[in-house]
Amino acid sequence: MTSPCPIINRRLIITHHPSPMIKVVTTLIERVTHSPEETILLGREIAALLRPPCLVLLEGDLGAGKTTLVKGIVAGLGVAGEEEVTSPSFTLVHEYGSGAKVFHADLYRIEGARDLATLGLEDLSSQAATVLVEWGEKLGDNAPIPCVKIRMEHLGRDDRRILIEKVDA
Ligand code: ADP
Ligand code: MG
Repeated sequence: MTSPCPIINRRLIITHHPSPMIKVVTTLIERVTHSPEETILLGREIAALLRPPCLVLLEGDLGAGKTTLVKGIVAGLGVAGEEEVTSPSFTLVHEYGSGAKVFHADLYRIEGARDLATLGLEDLSSQAATVLVEWGEKLGDNAPIPCVKIRMEHLGRDDRRILIEKVDA
């Protein structure tokens, strides 16, 4: 059984917004995990940082571990068990929870802005929901401002580098 390791390499960055009244605080967390179980545990930690409405964009190649991390986030939010979370690559969006809703989308098969419009991501984001989007980079300039951006990288074998950028405006 892997024990959760504490968040390391945590940095607080305060950037200056064009308006002097607004400070944007970005928390950067970088972690390397060595097994799917460890990534799921990290997902549970991330869940504790999320306050809906919240859009989470997950970026990274096939097999980088996006769906695995989402299992931990969804389980950590208490809306489903990790084994109930599967890739929405064919259905495009899965929905969890009855009160506080969690949507899990996968844009892998999305081509172009028209396809994207059929997903209704703006509607999802406007509810008091948590919206987790795999292949979030496909949103390009259409992306509503995410509260968390997660980049995942396959380092080889079971090692994954996970960079979490949490924006508090
Ligand atoms: P993606 O959604 O990015 O395509 P998945 O989460 O579906 O990726 O798949 C990741 C695969 O890599 C799974 O088979 C998982 O068991 C395996 N894996 C091995 N090591 C890790 C790790 N450290 N973190 C996440 N997944 C891992
Ligand atoms: Mg996936």
